[in-house]
Amino acid sequence: QVPLKPGRSLMDWIRLTKSGKDLAGLKGKLIEVTEDELAKHNKKEDCWICIRGFVYNVTPYMEYHPGGEDELMKAAGTDGTDLFDQVHRWVNYESMLKDCLVGRMAVKPIAAPKEISSTLSEEKKQLNGMLPEKKVLGASAKDLTPSYDWFQTDSLITIVIYTKQKDMNAELVIVDCQDKRLRGEIIVDDHSYLVEVDLDHAVQEDLAVNIAEKVGKVEIILKKKDNIHWKMLGQPLEHHNTFIKCKDRGLFYRKCKLVSKMEVTHDTKLFCLMLPKSTHLRVPTGQHVYLKQIIAGTEVVKPYTPVLPFLPLDFKEPSHYDGAHIYLMIKIYSCGLFTQALDHLQIENYISVSNPEGNFKKSQVQTSEDLFLLAAGTGFTPMVKLLNFALTEVSCLRIVKLIFFNKTDDDILWRNQLEQLVLKDERFEVQFILSQPTKDWVGKQGKISSSLLSEVVKRSRKDSKVLICICGPTPFAEQGVQYLKDLGYSQEEIHTFTA
Ligand code: FAD
Ligand code: NAD
Repeated sequence: QVPLKPGRSLMDWIRLTKSGKDLAGLKGKLIEVTEDELAKHNKKEDCWICIRGFVYNVTPYMEYHPGGEDELMKAAGTDGTDLFDQVHRWVNYESMLKDCLVGRMAVKPIAAPKEISSTLSEEKKQLNGMLPEKKVLGASAKDLTPSYDWFQTDSLITIVIYTKQKDMNAELVIVDCQDKRLRGEIIVDDHSYLVEVDLDHAVQEDLAVNIAEKVGKVEIILKKKDNIHWKMLGQPLEHHNTFIKCKDRGLFYRKCKLVSKMEVTHDTKLFCLMLPKSTHLRVPTGQHVYLKQIIAGTEVVKPYTPVLPFLPLDFKEPSHYDGAHIYLMIKIYSCGLFTQALDHLQIENYISVSNPEGNFKKSQVQTSEDLFLLAAGTGFTPMVKLLNFALTEVSCLRIVKLIFFNKTDDDILWRNQLEQLVLKDERFEVQFILSQPTKDWVGKQGKISSSLLSEVVKRSRKDSKVLICICGPTPFAEQGVQYLKDLGYSQEEIHTFTA
């Protein structure tokens, strides 16, 4: 991210798109763009970019792009889909840039290699213009591809997915059933398998998911609305029965109801969202979701990291933490575009929540003896589930230390709970460090620095296995990583939470 000039925020951009200005520069016409034509528009003052087959004139957007003009210029006059997906694949550029739309890429006829010709027409249907790279799986990859089957009784439909994975668990299965549309996604390492069908008949709202963890069998059990015999499961939808890299699978959203909103500090609230009965979704430790709202007619998406309703003081799964609710601890910024809209969301209102994403692996903790958590402000949020996991499930840990950076003591999230946790578990320590303390603060003060880290992050033994997790404002995390490296910690010993 680069600092934007005043008057160039996302809200200012939304305002400009509503001003009636001809942002595409074609007086309302849409055209078919050839590759040669696209390539001609490669200068800042005349810059077109193709995203997923659609071409946008991004010149008016340059100054509003949070990644900066230079980043945008990398895709000038070319297909920027990969670049956009790599940087911020959750941002809906189609919505953000809709007023800059120039037109579609002209479809270029291509000669199909023999071995994939049978599926080519299938793929053509999916895209306009830009044909995707063909994902031909080799024989060994094919053997690992999950498969599915289904059967019925008078009242139930059971879909069985054979994942061919030994360690299946509830976090790797995401199921949604909306109207008659069933979507079941299985995560296998960095791949995603999808069953996606328009069901033959209606089903009841609630569904069940059974997982045979050892054999990797997943059952999705639906209740028929009418006890009639189904001739088929349903019509396959576009991505049905595909096994692709997670990063190539679009994010899926479902609407969740806001059931409560509780104050945590003067500016931070704990939002409790309820998943629909027809959704099975568990957000893994260290992962975030995206929330989506329409703000002034534009789709705006931001990442948030689910927490627990409270810290694990009694070391049991909190009883009402049932998987049907998602808890989010969110700081409301007075000029924040998204958080202001979120703060105005009323109880019983709905908001769209995506599938989880993130690259943290629990195994990183399971093999560690010393765990250090460096959190700044709401960078505390990934540490909540991580603390729960470390203190309740990882017996090899000797030290679990949270070093929590805030501006003032009023900003410290869950201070009381953290201090109680120290009393409950002797492995756990917490240190609060304030950057803008009041005169009566007797604890540590300052910002992240090499000398501070050398004091607070220390191995319990000379060669103990250590994991240091870091989360907060980007400069905080970047500086932290650099200082830790200077102090001799390796890249493998550091995990940064990012989107
Ligand atoms: P914005 O409108 O983006 O602005 C926020 C504040 O920053 C405003 O005061 C604004 O004036 C200032 N600002 C904005 N841009 C700049 C700039 N370029 N230079 C200087 N100041 C600027 N937040 C949480 O509260 N809880 C979470 O659990 C959480 N999880 C996250 C997980 C991930 C992976 C990531 C990447 C972020 C997470 N965030 C979380 C932050 C969250 O995604 C939003 O960025 C945050 O809520 C602010 O959104 P906003 O639209 O309200 O604010
Ligand atoms: P804040 O502005 O209240 O600052 C908290 C502390 O962070 C400060 O006291 C200071 O010690 C440190 N800090 C702030 N700016 C710094 C800088 N430029 N250089 C060095 N240290 C600095 O924090 P906040 O408003 O709560 O913001 C939290 C940040 O964490 C947001 O940027 C949010 O996007 C990010 N976040 C990221 C994730 C993730 O998973 N990546 C999750 C949650 C929050």
